Amino acid sequence: MKIIDLLNENKLTLSFEVFPPKTEMGFETVKTATEEIAGLRPAFMSVTYGAGGGTSKYTLEIAKNIKERYGVPTLAHLTCVSSTRETVNEKIEQIKEAGIENVMALRGDIPQELENKTIGEYLHAVDLVRQLKESNPDFCIGGACYPEIHPESKNQKDDIAFLKEKVSAGCDFLTTQMFFDNNLLYNFLYKIREAGITVPVIPGIMPITNANMVSRAIKLSGSFVPQRFKSLVDKFGSEPEKMKQAGIAYATDQIIDLYANGITNVHVYSMNNPDVAEKIQQNLSHILEK
Ligand code: FAD
Repeated sequence: MKIIDLLNENKLTLSFEVFPPKTEMGFETVKTATEEIAGLRPAFMSVTYGAGGGTSKYTLEIAKNIKERYGVPTLAHLTCVSSTRETVNEKIEQIKEAGIENVMALRGDIPQELENKTIGEYLHAVDLVRQLKESNPDFCIGGACYPEIHPESKNQKDDIAFLKEKVSAGCDFLTTQMFFDNNLLYNFLYKIREAGITVPVIPGIMPITNANMVSRAIKLSGSFVPQRFKSLVDKFGSEPEKMKQAGIAYATDQIIDLYANGITNVHVYSMNNPDVAEKIQQNLSHILEK
């Protein structure tokens, strides 16, 4: 099923993101975790992709397995940074062969050693979106967006102008970077709608379930951390079970607020953690009832 058709149904949905293993050794463990998450029957699942292609094989294997064994629609991520058009074309053919209809078109982070140097044939995700559309006009294509602007952007106005170009090139929907203050998302939505971007936007929510994740996640995303969240980490950060419960409650609260304010689809960065995915889904069981 195409994700855009699902989004157009206008029902409240929850979806989960998983990531592939880096090596063959971790494959079975990750596969089992992703199957447990698929068993929760989310609206769809996304499978990330290692920029540079390191885990590319596993992205497709996991996406295909979830789709075929559990009937859960999958979104395969694909990055293009430091790739050639030829290798990207090969990946696109593999996606088609695997019967995957939904592709998240990403540039990927520029590897440190390539900063300020040539980064290959692709400068931005928009080039990949165009290539995907040319190779199969039927693909349902997602793109990334940043409520708190992308770290490389000088200002939000430019970031939104480039986002508009990416959407016009063929993105059917957008998924956001994580954020911990919903008002940032509401402000962002207002601005992109004003700029004429009309495709559905799926907010991405990251449940922070242990204190180590806080600095890692924030460094990665540059997200603003509200005092309410800081207090929670101060109070419970050193006690794993308490922190996990508080982190799940905080994410649940964010999701309920999003639904209450007219958002219909929320994507949870479940980090291959079936337990966290299940608890969040349970917390929303009545809200998500058809
Ligand atoms: P782009 O859309 O190309 O944007 C990158 C920067 O370039 C922005 O500052 C933008 O404003 C600017 N820009 C865009 N177009 C132009 C233009 N024409 N001229 C000048 N500037 C321009 N990374 C992975 O490696 N694997 C994953 O699976 C993965 N999944 C992700 C999923 C989501 C939902 C998100 C939000 C991020 C994900 N990332 C992933 C991280 C992502 O690859 C990085 O954030 C990367 O730095 C930017 O990717 P992008 O596709 O947003 O790039």
